[in-house]
Amino acid sequence: MELRGKCTVFAEGCHGHLAKQLYSKFKLRENCESQSYGIGLKELWEVKPENHKPGTIEHTVGWPLDKNTYGGSFLYHLNEEQPLIALGFVIGLDYTNPYLHPFKEFQKFKHHPSVEPVLRGGTRISYGARALNEGGLQCIPKLSFPGGCLIGCSPGFMVVPKIKGTHTAMKSAMLAAESIFESLNNEENADAVWVEPVTYEKKIKDSWMWKELYAARNVRPSFHSPLGVFGGLLYTGLFYILGRGKEPWTLKHGGRDADRLKPASQCKPIAYPKPDGEISFDLLSSVALTGTNHEHDQPPHLTLKDDSVPVEKNYAVFNGPEGHFCPAGVYEYVPLEAGDGVRLQINAQNCIHCKTCDIKCPSQNINWVVPEAGGGPAYDGM
Ligand SMILES: Cc1cc2nc3c(=O)[nH]c(=O)nc-3n(C[C@H](O)[C@H](O)[C@H](O)COP(=O)(O)OP(=O)(O)OC[C@H]3O[C@@H](n4cnc5c(N)ncnc54)[C@H](O)[C@@H]3O)c2cc1C
Ligand code: SF4
Repeated sequence: MELRGKCTVFAEGCHGHLAKQLYSKFKLRENCESQSYGIGLKELWEVKPENHKPGTIEHTVGWPLDKNTYGGSFLYHLNEEQPLIALGFVIGLDYTNPYLHPFKEFQKFKHHPSVEPVLRGGTRISYGARALNEGGLQCIPKLSFPGGCLIGCSPGFMVVPKIKGTHTAMKSAMLAAESIFESLNNEENADAVWVEPVTYEKKIKDSWMWKELYAARNVRPSFHSPLGVFGGLLYTGLFYILGRGKEPWTLKHGGRDADRLKPASQCKPIAYPKPDGEISFDLLSSVALTGTNHEHDQPPHLTLKDDSVPVEKNYAVFNGPEGHFCPAGVYEYVPLEAGDGVRLQINAQNCIHCKTCDIKCPSQNINWVVPEAGGGPAYDGM
């Protein structure tokens, strides 16, 4: 690919495929922590009019997760003429049990006694999933480099406790535009082939969005204490809600999500209830709602660095976690046609571009690359 612009703005969202290459080419992550992620699963429902309370927002933490797994839900009664509800579940990708199945946790969550009655009698309209950045301020890389800069969720501007990142994405784009304009207008750059928007990072650090990210910086890592979710809630109540994040220290996340899984032999399998087809659903009927599509003869966009790793490491040690964490059923370990053993089957056409496999594969063996133009989920109404 040849980029001819003097400055290219990279806005790929969380865990961009090009951003990954920029990090390594320009060493942008040398002075920050590894990014920490979550997977967010979301559904849109049309509920019975009597169950719809426009403007109501509910957030929960914990159930059905155990106390050491970070996660929680959101349920928004949309302010629309149609009685629509957007609900979802976010799970920190630093979870340790390879048997954990984020999609099934979400389906189970919908049976909570305070959620199920809202959905009962309604119709599910759409389904989707996407990784999101949870690292916050301590994981933000260098933002500009020769000929470009990173904006929005690409560098990780989402504010974790609010699951909110559209406002910071827009603000960072505005500040990048200002900075690029200054660089292009600088007479010294008149004949330059590329410019670096050198004032962009300072503009971000002087803006309200940096203050918001600073205040929220310790919320996510506080859940790593031995008290798990209870320690995190206590810390968040004291230091974020009451103290407004003014404590002088910054907590660390402690490494990559990909390195957190424990061997399956050290973990308990998780038994999930069967979907009832009314409130909870199976994976394939859910994927059908995403409208995802890829031309069958395009080059693979889910590439393996080493074909032997899935069976020899991911399956043998971790019980094939990609078969659990993928929210679209793309990865399946199927029996070999001849003899004992299994092989990894990749149903790439089902991929909904959430990027979780690229983040959570314990061998870091999966490289998600951008598919041919137009491929991917349709996400109508989401
Ligand atoms: C389940 C869930 C719920 C959320 N709820 C909220 C909420 O209620 N409020 C809120 O403010 N935020 C919410 N967020 C966060 C919000 O979605 C993000 O912060 C925001 O979308 C970031 O915007 P962005 O433009 O940086 O990235 P994105 O919205 O991710 O957009 C990036 C775009 O670039 C495209 N792209 C990626 N790579 C390439 C490439 N190489 N070439 C061409 N195109 C590419 C992608 O397909 C995508 O369309 C939520 C996130 C999730 C996952
Ligand atoms: S294959 Fe990877 S990117 Fe695609 S839906 Fe599954 S986990 Fe997400």
